[in-house]
Amino acid sequence: MVNIPKQNLRTPGPTPVPSDIVEAMSNPMIDHRGPEFLEIITAATEQLKQVFMTTNDLFILTASGTGALEAAIVNTLSPGDKVLSASAGSFGDRFTEMVETYGADVQRLNFEWGSPIEPDAIRSALQAEPGIKAVLVTHNETSTGVTHPLQAIAEVVKGEFQKLLLVDAVSSLACVPLPVDGWNCDVVATASQKGFMIPPGLAFITMSKTAWEAAETATMPRYYFDLKAASRFLERGQTPFTPNVALMYGLSLALDKLLEEGMENVFERHARISQLTRDGIKDLGLELLVSDETYASNTVTAIKIPDGVDGSMLRNLAHNEHNLVLAGGQGKLTGHIFRIGHLGHVTREDIEEVLETLRIILPKVGFRAG
Ligand code: PLP
Repeated sequence: MVNIPKQNLRTPGPTPVPSDIVEAMSNPMIDHRGPEFLEIITAATEQLKQVFMTTNDLFILTASGTGALEAAIVNTLSPGDKVLSASAGSFGDRFTEMVETYGADVQRLNFEWGSPIEPDAIRSALQAEPGIKAVLVTHNETSTGVTHPLQAIAEVVKGEFQKLLLVDAVSSLACVPLPVDGWNCDVVATASQKGFMIPPGLAFITMSKTAWEAAETATMPRYYFDLKAASRFLERGQTPFTPNVALMYGLSLALDKLLEEGMENVFERHARISQLTRDGIKDLGLELLVSDETYASNTVTAIKIPDGVDGSMLRNLAHNEHNLVLAGGQGKLTGHIFRIGHLGHVTREDIEEVLETLRIILPKVGFRAG
């Protein structure tokens, strides 16, 4: 067994797990077809609906976030369907690749990494191609630290064009407001290891009435992620396949904690801590990647690696000498940025520690403040 020291885990997922949740996950194993599991899944599903602000159907899947995104696609679309996929980063690109893999006829709408997706560009694309059936959007682009204007996007996609809207909310849900019903999002998918303060391994997905109508004719192949099967089993308090029971214990307590704190307070805490992060980074003389701070994410901050600074050395020093785990860049931003996660179980002290560590190590990796 590897010895894991206590770390300030500041990756944008997995995120730190509070000790009472760790303890909850060590409860005795139960039969996932028995009465205790029925009680757990029924209560957790109802509580999750409060967090998602929806009365739509909601399913808990044993999978990482990608599983729920795949479920979003295969349950609502057919090969050959025209799909508009908006992307401004590595996760947006991945969502696009997934829907292409399943044979959709995809129109890619790409934006600069570090910039927001523009609702006007979505409007123009939908006007130009009336045959588009669905629009795919990532709410919070984890690879760039940008929160896209989902509400405005939804007003175009749903309000003006009545298209199906599939949302990757993996690094936003339970951290920043995403009222699923209020914004009329058809399918919203997220994962346990981000805002929910529990380990990776569960994913959550909502289906609107319109999404279910699409499911009636959708022919993309599906088996493990067949949400009709999930729906049938949920009626008797079960899942089609063996669920991750230990994570369900953790989820139950995490939901109690979130709802006790109050979602408005949770959102406010994320806003406050992310502002502290950005201000501290700029005070150190570093530059944010995000081009317009109005769109800066409240869950992850991407910072440009200054000229002359060795980014991997920075992260290695932080990890090896300060037990601070930072994230690197992804895709074409590899080597150009590093990222600080501030989502889920995160406090002001966690970020103050990050800033203090950076103040100590930056001069050691070639940084000279301008
Ligand atoms: N989408 C976004 C925005 C993410 O941040 C991530 C993971 O970081 C994913 C999708 C993929 O989720 P998972 O790694 O849980 O499959």
